[in-house]
Amino acid sequence: MTAGRTFYRNATLIDGTGAAPVADAVVTAADGVIGYAGPAAGAPAPAPGDTVHDLGGRTLLPGFIDAHVHFGIGDSRQILFNNVEIPRSLHAFETAERMRRTLEAGVTTARDLGGTDAGFRTAQQRGLLSGPRLSLALRLVSHTGGHADFTLPTGVDLHACGGNSISEIADSVQEARVAARRLMRDGADVIKVCATGGVSSPSDTPDDEGLTVEEIAAMAAEAARHGGRPIAAHAQGAAGIRNAVRGGAASIEHGYLVDDEGIDLMLEHGAYLVPTLATFDFEDRVHLMTEKAVRTKRALAERTFERVSEAVRRGVKVAMGTDAGISPHGRNLAELGHLTRVGLSPMEAITAATRNAAELLGLADRVGTVRAGMLADLVVCEGDPLADIALPADPDNIVLVVQGGRTVKDTWG
Ligand SMILES: [Zn+2]
Repeated sequence: MTAGRTFYRNATLIDGTGAAPVADAVVTAADGVIGYAGPAAGAPAPAPGDTVHDLGGRTLLPGFIDAHVHFGIGDSRQILFNNVEIPRSLHAFETAERMRRTLEAGVTTARDLGGTDAGFRTAQQRGLLSGPRLSLALRLVSHTGGHADFTLPTGVDLHACGGNSISEIADSVQEARVAARRLMRDGADVIKVCATGGVSSPSDTPDDEGLTVEEIAAMAAEAARHGGRPIAAHAQGAAGIRNAVRGGAASIEHGYLVDDEGIDLMLEHGAYLVPTLATFDFEDRVHLMTEKAVRTKRALAERTFERVSEAVRRGVKVAMGTDAGISPHGRNLAELGHLTRVGLSPMEAITAATRNAAELLGLADRVGTVRAGMLADLVVCEGDPLADIALPADPDNIVLVVQGGRTVKDTWG
């Protein structure tokens, strides 16, 4: 069934590969797949029955990919209290609304690293809800007292009961294997491990080490025995970052205090850094944070920007992730600007949020670049994001979003 092709013409194309922009480009799509992407001079001519969109000189980009979100969490206080305060039905509607807002901000694919169950992925695939296509971790794995342990000093475990828990506890190599098996059974696309403590967890710090090298390696081995899935490691302090890479993590999430040896290891293993710098834009959200989280975050900021800049300078691969849920949902592309503040060029920031993120998610043969044969995930942005990387951050500047060939946002008059 060919319903005719769709032509997008009169645009500057940034194709996500890092190649120079193509002025006066044409992109065609049919049955949800890109047929042609390149200069107008080499483009096929529209035939009767084809639809032609004139993009008026705007910039055409791949649908963006956010490699680190939490759609199930509205703000950092909810990480603690979601599970006990919010009925599952309300939680589902709130999650769906955050997904829709994220899609309309230009993110057509997202990796949720904890708090969103497999039903959302199915619902999105079936068209029951509008949002990015999902890659899911479901829950995060830590040891007792680690980043996924939400037991308060009173002994009350906020994640022990209720349906919105994001927690898996494992305290030995064998328990780590079982946790990985449970997550894969429940539909995880990626295994999220906590290699250090964190900012929002009640009883640890970013410098505390989390799961051991052996425990992380056991989960990586278990994933490899079942068709392979990447390990995403929450890792903020230097020692835990090294443990995560040695254990086989494909990505270091946050990576704030990576040391020189950690950078060496990341380069050697080809691990991605997902620096989630948007989370440092938090001063207007301190009322949503615990006192411990505010204090920890303020103490981290300066060294984080130094160490992440050093990793970028040394050539560590970067994929864009926002930790939305901790940072605001629906302003994901503000992270592009943060990435330029640690040394990426605007083009490199865009590539981090397109091709690189697609590679990290294992989806580079389908999404992340605008090329013939890829899914037609397209975003049209006002102006030139290479001249002003803040433009895509404002969802009002994202005037067209196409996902798998289907227009999901179209706001220009
Ligand atoms: Zn996170």
